[in-house]
Amino acid sequence: MRFTVLGCSGGIGGVDGRTTSFLVDDDTLIDCGTGVGDLSLDELRRIDRVFVTHAHLDHVAMLPLLADSVACGRDSPVRVFAAQGTLEALAQHVFNGTMWPDFTRLPSPAAPALSLTPVAVGESVDIGAGRRVTALPAYHGVPALAWCLDSGAGRLVFSGDTAFEPGFVDAINAVEDLRHLVIETAFADEQHALAEASSHLCPQTLTGVLDAIRSSPQVHVCHLKPGAAERILSQIRGHAARLATRQLCRGDVLEF
Ligand SMILES: [Zn+2]
Ligand SMILES: [Zn+2]
Repeated sequence: MRFTVLGCSGGIGGVDGRTTSFLVDDDTLIDCGTGVGDLSLDELRRIDRVFVTHAHLDHVAMLPLLADSVACGRDSPVRVFAAQGTLEALAQHVFNGTMWPDFTRLPSPAAPALSLTPVAVGESVDIGAGRRVTALPAYHGVPALAWCLDSGAGRLVFSGDTAFEPGFVDAINAVEDLRHLVIETAFADEQHALAEASSHLCPQTLTGVLDAIRSSPQVHVCHLKPGAAERILSQIRGHAARLATRQLCRGDVLEF
């Protein structure tokens, strides 16, 4: 499985300021932030499915535009997998005929651009070629999921946006053959109160997560707020968690 980082910043600004979006092989997206806008039309048409962590704009900003671009260039709908509450938010607030057309019924109800499929924590989706994607719990103040990608040879967990909660750590500890953990750290420690209020991690709470994980994956931190990246990374190093970390960057490719 090839996991390509299209965007992993906590905000926009410059060529590396692309928000959360990962391409799995060439047919699957994990989140649909602004990084998806860099794909060519041919690459967009090869996307068969999108796994969405939650409905916040930095994770779905390109989903309406993806639907529009591929609506007439594919034989089947792009399948969107997310928590039921996330799909309801997308239907109510995005594909509502006002913000954007309802591409679950367009170009025609019989052959729409998108189809929406709810996934509950613990459920797996078979995406072919021996690959599976499983929903894990995340805690973000809105319906949210983390995703576990299984290539058949190893696994990668992407946290989405989440606070430090025991259920999240327990779910990671239940994953066998965990090779990679891609995990957010949105705020610096001096913004701990803001991180807590918005259900995000900061270096201190990230360290709590990493010290509670019993396996030894490579840890890639992402979703750093623009302008605060160096400070967040230096604070993470200062906490010296049991697991070492590196910064995830746009263009990185993780193979597992
Ligand atoms: Zn969020
Ligand atoms: Zn976010």
